[in-house]
Parts: sequence; structure tokens; C-alpha cells
Amino acid sequence: MDDITLQDKQDFVENLPEITAEQQFCFDCNPQVPCFNRCCAELTLPLTPYDVLRLVRHLSMNATEFLNTYTDMQVSAETGFPQFTLRMNQEPGEPCPFVSPVGCMVYENRPSACRAYPLGRGTKLGKDGVIERFFMVREEHCHGFDAGPARTPQEWFNAEGLKQYNRANDRYMRLMSLVQASNKPLDQRLQNMSRLCLYHLDQFRQMISKMHIFSHVDITAERQEAVLATDLAGDTACLDFALDWMELVIFGVAQDLKRT
Ligand code: SF4
Ligand code: SF4
Repeated sequence: MDDITLQDKQDFVENLPEITAEQQFCFDCNPQVPCFNRCCAELTLPLTPYDVLRLVRHLSMNATEFLNTYTDMQVSAETGFPQFTLRMNQEPGEPCPFVSPVGCMVYENRPSACRAYPLGRGTKLGKDGVIERFFMVREEHCHGFDAGPARTPQEWFNAEGLKQYNRANDRYMRLMSLVQASNKPLDQRLQNMSRLCLYHLDQFRQMISKMHIFSHVDITAERQEAVLATDLAGDTACLDFALDWMELVIFGVAQDLKRT
């Protein structure tokens, strides 16, 4: 499983049957289905920076401890960004480390890919913003399609609490797309910096203070305060700022941030 890249995974998703934004489908997953927990094993499960933020908070771990314990890392050949996947337990059946007989132990903060299932969401940067496409995963063992109300992809995502995830993931996708379009993958220094800024928010906040970053950029007092707050909204604001900061460091300009 380790040699499957995230690009392979994206290609896999985009080879699945596509459904339109208006198309409805029925799906319901609950502890009574005969296949309960069958899908939480042997996965190549990508973790975005926002997924990591939510899991780190859920588990009350620091990011270094979380990433060392639960993830594998690869570097994207196209962009040079570090990409993390959730490491399955190395035991028969390779279960997810968070699955239990009563279901997902991190349910409130489960990753985007788990929330979206049975849909895959492909995104790319268009002239007027993010272009999204939806793909349907139909696995033989999955009884979720046997019941449930009819919903469009957007209704499904709203019900699964994906709005905040998609917003943060789309911002990350924009940065990766800009780097990919530049044909200059991040060098080792930028790889290390992006790992620190996007995944280790505690260390990024220390860097903000040590390097006096706020005094080098045009950022409102209100946003500064939000970035330094350590609740969920604060971490979300911090990641958003980290993405702007990386864009500024890589390209010398950032759409939502200016140097002073
Ligand atoms: S994180 Fe939760 S929902 Fe996702 S695979 Fe693991 S147990 Fe299943
Ligand atoms: S219904 Fe599908 S998503 Fe739900 S537990 Fe079964 S296999 Fe997993």
C-alpha cells in the first residue's frame, strides 16, 4: 500500500462513475447495517492539513506526536508538498487505527474522505474559482445504498459536515495548483517550511512570534488575534494564514496577504 501515491489515488477517484451536482442518490450508513465497519480497513486515506488539525485536536496530542504515530509521509513529485496518509494498523485485515466495535472513535473529527464516502470529490482551480466534480464509489460489500433519503452531492456534504473541510481543503488545493502550474516543485527548504507551517500549527505560532511575521505583512489586528487563538476557530484561522504565508514565501505575492 505504501507505494500508491496520492496522484494514483486522485486518478483512481476520477476513474469512478461521475455524478452531476443535481443528481440524487440514496445512502444511509448506521451501526445496524450488516457491513458495519467493513470499509474502515486497508485504506490509502489521504489526510489534508485540515484533517490533521481536526484529528490532533480530537486526540489532544501535539502534531509531531500525531504524525509520527498515525501517518506515513510522501513528497509529491509534481509539487514537492509533503502529503500524509493515515497508517493502517499492521495486523491481519489492516484496520484503521480509529475503528472500534462500536464504530469510528474520532467520528466528530473524522477525515474529509471518510465524511464524503460514498462520494469522491475532485477539484481543480478554474478561472472563477474552484471547479468541483463528484464521483460515486460503489463497493460490493457496502449496504449503504439499500436505504436513506435521496440527496444531491451538496446535500450529502452538508449532512456530513464537510463545508468547513472543503473550504480549507480548497484553499490548500489552490496553493498546490499554483505551485504545479509554476513547474517548480518546492525545494527541500520550502518542503520543510510547508510541513511546519501547514501541519504543526503550534510551531507555526512560535515562528510567527520569533520572526515577528505579523510586522512584515499587511494583516488586520482582528485576523492576528484569530490566528493566535487556540480554539478550533483559531486553528482554522491559523491554517488559513499559514497557507497565505506559504504562498507569499513561495511566490513573493499572495492573493489575500501583502508584504508591508
Ligand atoms: S477515521 Fe473513522 S471513519 Fe475513517 S476509516 Fe478510520 S474508523 Fe473509519
Ligand atoms: S454501509 Fe457502507 S459505509 Fe456504512 S459501514 Fe457498510 S460498507 Fe461502510
